[in-house]
Amino acid sequence: MAQMTGKQYKESLKKVKPVIYYMGEKVDDITKHPAFIPHINAAALTYDMALAPEFEELCSAKSHLTGERINRFTHIHQNHDDLIKKVKMLRAIGQQTGSCFQRCVGFDGMNATYSVSYDIDKKFGTGYHERFKNFVKMIQTKDLMPSGAMTDPKGDRSLSPSQQKDPDMYVHVIEKRKDGIVVSGAKAHITGAVNSHGHLVMPTTAMREGDKDYAVCFYVPIDAPGVMHIFGRQSNDTRKCDCSMDQGNCEYGCVGGEALIVFDKVFVPNEYVFMCGEWEYAGELVERFATFHRQNYGGCKGGLADVLVGAVYSLALAQGTAKASHVREKLAEMIHLAETIYCCSIACSCQGFAQPAGSFQADPLMANVTKLNVTRNVYEIARLAHDITGGLLATMPSEFDLHDPTVGKWVDKYMKGSSSVPAETRMRLIRLIDAMTCGTALAESMHGAGSPQAQMIMIERRGSLERKKKLAEKLAKIGDQPVLIC
Ligand code: SF4
Ligand code: FE
Repeated sequence: MAQMTGKQYKESLKKVKPVIYYMGEKVDDITKHPAFIPHINAAALTYDMALAPEFEELCSAKSHLTGERINRFTHIHQNHDDLIKKVKMLRAIGQQTGSCFQRCVGFDGMNATYSVSYDIDKKFGTGYHERFKNFVKMIQTKDLMPSGAMTDPKGDRSLSPSQQKDPDMYVHVIEKRKDGIVVSGAKAHITGAVNSHGHLVMPTTAMREGDKDYAVCFYVPIDAPGVMHIFGRQSNDTRKCDCSMDQGNCEYGCVGGEALIVFDKVFVPNEYVFMCGEWEYAGELVERFATFHRQNYGGCKGGLADVLVGAVYSLALAQGTAKASHVREKLAEMIHLAETIYCCSIACSCQGFAQPAGSFQADPLMANVTKLNVTRNVYEIARLAHDITGGLLATMPSEFDLHDPTVGKWVDKYMKGSSSVPAETRMRLIRLIDAMTCGTALAESMHGAGSPQAQMIMIERRGSLERKKKLAEKLAKIGDQPVLIC
């Protein structure tokens, strides 16, 4: 099979039998459960847009492995154009969903593992890269969505993986067999985990020799025996269950839908093992994955910001404030902040480079700068949106009261702004702004793809401080300096 449609993707989720828990209950069919439907819809759009004539150039690509047209989310970047198109694709999809569409994490995991498995083989003579290429071919031909499972629960942060009192605080190999390995542990905050087809599991941090058993990268189907998913609670998630307009974005939700994945003595056949014990490369895999995922954020969050700016502008028109100069200024500032993060994402793509494996990597320093800006700009964009929206954001009656036979007429009367705009229109816009800025969505901008301190560490490490010191010392005529410093 080549590319799936969104409908086929949804049907494919019914064919697997993963173990999923939410709010203390086992959920047998997530495609029918209101807590999951918006996330599934958002991921489904990544399938449909790849087949839509107006988006196929961005959202699909030609596989370098099979020569076939494939969904871009399964592609291995071959040049700068691929890196740039990825960012443009994320912005385009974000503009349609107004929410996370989840599929990028596995995409980034595949691109990182592709080049790292090549480097491991070069150094140790292992056979991971060919295996991984076969795995990528399988994902491309079936058009699957693997999650990218990196973050471990981590237990006591002052201790390394092998020093933890409970060895399962990081995913690790508990048994090596002739035909594969057995792993235990967990991965936390995994975006799109419950509506993926499987999990690409990667180490979460650099390791030392003593952590060898924790330096493991592999793939498991979502319903492999011993794999369990516990879906997280989100702000306002009961609104999803009452299916009212109070949800704000009932089609696609407001965030990706994250889960804790537990691996309880899970068997992984050799064909799906891509690193096992090569602790020297754990940090490299983390860094390359983080670079790819941080590259994204000016794309997807730029797309979301476009929706938010549109919602705020439309609301200002509905409230009669659109001509006020301070509102125009704030809208311009929101656009400026959104375009700034998009510029960052495009820049780190343009400055990308080829890895020895032949695939392309975004610029790590600039990708970290991108994500750090996102942790700030998205909050500022939200602050300005709140400023223009007004206090109703926090106090507005529900749709149930708007439609109540007794009080409905009062809600309708007093929720009106401009007389030409129905109260319900104004209320819908406020709820959309609420969904995009008031809950879990903002925290995602802060901690998704790594918390700001992780970016600071990378920026400090890659910021060439010594070279910059020399540049200054040369001009200040301190000591002997070469004529030109490169
Ligand atoms: Fe993709 Fe953005 Fe969601 Fe990350 S936060 S999975 S980059 S849409
Ligand atoms: Fe994310």
